Amino acid sequence: MGHNDNRTQMIDAVAPLDAWRCCRSVGSAVTGAVRPRRPDRRFLASLPDHGLPRGTTTVELTVLAQNAKSVPTAAIVEGIFAPRRIESAMMAFVVRHPKATFLVDPGICADVEGQVVAELPHILRLAVRPPKDIIDIRESLHRSAIDPETIDFALPTHLHWDHVAGLLDLPDLPLRLHRPEHDWAMAGPVAPVGGVRRAVRDRPLDRYDLDGPPVLTFARSHDLFGDGAVLLVDLSGHTPGSIGLLLRTERGPVLLPGDAVWHNLQVEELRQKSGYPGILADNDRTETWRTVHRLHAIRGAVRIIPSHDHRAACAWHDDLHAARSRQS
Ligand SMILES: [Zn+2]
Repeated sequence: MGHNDNRTQMIDAVAPLDAWRCCRSVGSAVTGAVRPRRPDRRFLASLPDHGLPRGTTTVELTVLAQNAKSVPTAAIVEGIFAPRRIESAMMAFVVRHPKATFLVDPGICADVEGQVVAELPHILRLAVRPPKDIIDIRESLHRSAIDPETIDFALPTHLHWDHVAGLLDLPDLPLRLHRPEHDWAMAGPVAPVGGVRRAVRDRPLDRYDLDGPPVLTFARSHDLFGDGAVLLVDLSGHTPGSIGLLLRTERGPVLLPGDAVWHNLQVEELRQKSGYPGILADNDRTETWRTVHRLHAIRGAVRIIPSHDHRAACAWHDDLHAARSRQS
């Protein structure tokens, strides 16, 4: 069976990763490692800071249990070789607001090999195959002592398989989605790889727009509960409708930026994702790069926990527990 037959079989579910894009990806990984993309200092200086929203209501943020895998830093952050390796994971979060409890980036389903990996193009499989000991979403909730029945809805930062596949194990859980992201993933000419459409389909859906004012360095926002405790902000680039969640917690403001960056080293050092697999993952590389600048500009004021940054997630978890044990 030829390559084309193979493609036809998968055409419903798989975005075409043509040879050109793959070559460009590997090529740009090599170039980027030697000569990383230079920060745009003028763009950075031009970013206004609109500040944080007002209000007093706070939310509680729980990082769900997940195992990490050690990966070469240069495969995540362009042109960074020290430390040599970093811990990467697929984090999911639970946010408790007085009015609702919701799941951010509902992670991985139990049958990840059959439901997801089988549908991934080979070139991507090499880079992103989940580790064998990955914890599926139901098990992850269980280990964090959270009853799935207490969750009101899921709110993904974007519609990539590693952020929504867990929905396959949470049937009927309502979903809130940024309208352009929903349109891109569900009605675009090609579906995102790895069962995304199946995960989203056939469940209650509420679509929102970023209809609110700028906040911090982000151009648009949506106030989820109308009290400034959870603001969804525009982080487009990685996908057309990627959002971040700006949370007001008792421990200060926290931003969950999804995959706008894969690791905080990118924010600190102002680096883009490495070319391979970054170029296969980022829908619009230039827009994503601008978003990294927006994150870099606020790094001192807001704690940022990227979805794949295991260190940042564990630090939040540990700080929270240290604070609790001091209280008791
Ligand atoms: Zn992603």
